[in-house]
Amino acid sequence: MKIQFDLRSEGEALPEAFLDETELEQMFESTRRSIGAGLRRKFRDVLCAEHEQAPSFLITGVYDKEVEEMDIQYHVDTCCRYFLLRVMQILNQQG
Ligand SMILES: [Zn+2]
Repeated sequence: MKIQFDLRSEGEALPEAFLDETELEQMFESTRRSIGAGLRRKFRDVLCAEHEQAPSFLITGVYDKEVEEMDIQYHVDTCCRYFLLRVMQILNQQG
């Protein structure tokens, strides 16, 4: 299983920014850690039944400094369409 992250910030920081640069880095770091741990737990034993391939994940996150919100998106890459559906199903399960 491959997990990659692309986390960045954009926009001008507010004068009374909620997070400074160091805290932003820490937030990115803990995001990587918790999402990575969650994916490894959920997909530890998950392989495509037909091709025996593990899924690949790219997690992109953009922190908008002007509205102070993080937008996270999951991009999933799999060997085939059938396995993609199964991975999305697991991804959307709670816990
Ligand atoms: Zn497959």
